Amino acid sequence: MWGSGDRVVVRYIRRGRVSWVRPVTVVEDRDDLNVLFLSAGTPTKEPVHDDGSPIPRSLTYEQRFQLDGRVGDGNWGGHQTLLITPPGAAHSIWLFWTEPWEFTGWYVNLQEPQTRTPIGFDTSDQVLDIWVEPDLTWSWKDEDELEDAIRLGRFSPDEAAAIRAEGENVVAAWPFPTGWEDWRPDPAWPVPQLPVGWERV
Ligand code: MG
Repeated sequence: MWGSGDRVVVRYIRRGRVSWVRPVTVVEDRDDLNVLFLSAGTPTKEPVHDDGSPIPRSLTYEQRFQLDGRVGDGNWGGHQTLLITPPGAAHSIWLFWTEPWEFTGWYVNLQEPQTRTPIGFDTSDQVLDIWVEPDLTWSWKDEDELEDAIRLGRFSPDEAAAIRAEGENVVAAWPFPTGWEDWRPDPAWPVPQLPVGWERV
């Protein structure tokens, strides 16, 4: 288990290769709860074009799906983010704030259960997400991309149904607010950097 203040990475693995790397600081790492802080301004690795240029979000899912899996330098940008992951669950709940800590909402990232690595945690993104506004209204995000992912053979219809069911279970359990909304990091924590070996699977 990691201790509070340890600096690790969360990696998203795709087709056996690293596609996203996000350095984080451990807040809690217990049998029943995993909480990681992803600071505004954190340097990351993310999918890029062959020439290293960033991939605009305006690209369709199919266009992004067909990229060859090259990763390059990125940055998490101007959001303070807390990643709350129940061990073994196929989702993670992310709290978002602006850089000066104004709460902006919850994001339910549907993903494979997180596994432990020598440098942190690995998972795999499952495309579909849920967004919950601070006023507690909620909506699916990227339902169209999940349809594209089925059509392109990334998920079978049964797998996609299981992904959606996980999201429906989170909504039914309704863990909002989470109790972490007033949490703030230790001001002594530095912004974590990418560790050596981030690319090794
Ligand atoms: Mg997602």
